[in-house]
Amino acid sequence: MTTHREPLDSVLDTIGETPLVRVTASVDAVPVYAKLESFNPGASVKDRIGLYMLEQMLDRGELSPGGTVVEPTAGNTGIGLAIAAGQLDLNAIFVVPERFSVEKQQLMAALGAEIINTPTEDGMGGAIDRAHQLAAELDNAVVPQQFANPLNAEAHYELTAPEIFDALDGNVGAIVAGCGTAGTLMGIARYALEQDEDIHICAVEPEGSLYSTTKGKSAAEAEYKIEGIGTHDVATNELFDPDLVDSVAQVSDEAAHTELKRLAREEGHLVASSSGAASVAAQRLAAKIESGVVSAPHDSVVTIFPDSSERYLSKGIYRSFDEWEN
Ligand code: PMP
Repeated sequence: MTTHREPLDSVLDTIGETPLVRVTASVDAVPVYAKLESFNPGASVKDRIGLYMLEQMLDRGELSPGGTVVEPTAGNTGIGLAIAAGQLDLNAIFVVPERFSVEKQQLMAALGAEIINTPTEDGMGGAIDRAHQLAAELDNAVVPQQFANPLNAEAHYELTAPEIFDALDGNVGAIVAGCGTAGTLMGIARYALEQDEDIHICAVEPEGSLYSTTKGKSAAEAEYKIEGIGTHDVATNELFDPDLVDSVAQVSDEAAHTELKRLAREEGHLVASSSGAASVAAQRLAAKIESGVVSAPHDSVVTIFPDSSERYLSKGIYRSFDEWEN
């Protein structure tokens, strides 16, 4: 989406500069704006970190052309890394537990990556162990490890956040974003708080996830269908810093699902469940700012819509709530 007014040399030049669009259902006095990350070439927010992490690791000499990136990933990060690796003369190997989305694995393979499946019962932990094992066996190989790598959040500090502040001439009252690795929210929050320490920072998670426990709230752990955000063990989400966060909003699967369908029907957005959850939380916060329950330095709320619903059609994302699978 960078600029389509002149020819570009590489698909990498189309990463970032995504549009910021008003969520029309939000209250007039405190509009919600959503950054549409499906406009990236791999159709998700993770194209940003795929490119940024690999460029930085090449610059620092941690990796050199012809080398290999090995990442345990079930999804969008693999696609983002595969796009960047392919264009930067790097090989990509992704270690994916068997149960994960077939669509995403097909896209990674189409981009030239090698996929190694690990048994479903070994979980993401099994995939992480295998990735490190493989990298140790290869010369010139790295595991970027998005859950622990500060470059993940830095990509959003350096690029996503300034785009938001430029688009709104700095008039940002609150930032609301779903947290998986929390790289998106942490990078944007750090930049936002440097502009104005009163900007309200809200993390979004599914009901059943445990980020709220970091803010002293009790939360009951449970399974959830919303994909891409939430945690069952905050110790694995090394980038999440509760000190940068004012509130953690929990959104139910059902509320996120109703909203993602509404966003398509009424506003023309083909977005997935983490966008539905972000939209619900952002609109709730906007209403609280309007009524004065929450204070914010400007009457606006910015959120992120991380990816598109097309990637989840096989899971029945547009069927009834009960028929939507995870
Ligand atoms: N939504 C989707 C669909 C994702 O794949 C991710 C990444 N896991 C996120 C939201 C959350 O982004 P982050 O990892 O930066 O917190």
